[in-house]
Amino acid sequence: MKILCIGRNYVDHAKELNNPLPKSPVIFIKPETALIPKNHPFHYPKFTNDLHYEVEIVLRIKKVGKHIEERFASKYISEIGIGIDFTARDLQSQLKAKGLPWEKAKGWDHSAPISQHFIPIEKFDSINDITFSLKKNGELVQKGNTKEMIFPIENLISEISSYFTLKIGDLIFTGTPAGVGSVEIGDKLEAFIGDQLMLSLTIR
Ligand code: ZN
Repeated sequence: MKILCIGRNYVDHAKELNNPLPKSPVIFIKPETALIPKNHPFHYPKFTNDLHYEVEIVLRIKKVGKHIEERFASKYISEIGIGIDFTARDLQSQLKAKGLPWEKAKGWDHSAPISQHFIPIEKFDSINDITFSLKKNGELVQKGNTKEMIFPIENLISEISSYFTLKIGDLIFTGTPAGVGSVEIGDKLEAFIGDQLMLSLTIR
């Protein structure tokens, strides 16, 4: 399986990092090894001094698809969960300045923790009106709604699948709203869909 990720999909987040608004989705990939094995702790990586959280709605794909039309896109999603696109921001800035790929800053081992539980897509009234949030040490730091996406979910699936064949079990991180920030060892992150606590993680 692969993990497809979308960058700069919320206006307020693109602005906070001084990035121009994209004209088409910014797509990058994390390898399967970016997931955290069950009950495995999250460790602050040694190669960064500025580790950032980015909370994101995550889609799980249920069938193979290529060149998917937007009107059929939701039929390819089985469940919706939440994840954190951990980013070594210092490393990413260095790579961006040199025009180099982001993988070392975003694709490292355990950089993509996801909720253990995913919610079946049928449970949502609309996939384009899902509220989600992140607390750091009990304090709200990020809050978003999928209706604020620059490129909505159906558009992301269509766009991604015109470059990359989607396969069963693939995950799509759909981008982060404003409020990204750094974490230190000992910090606790809690990610919510609506009021439901989906993912809890302590930095070790
Ligand atoms: Zn992200």
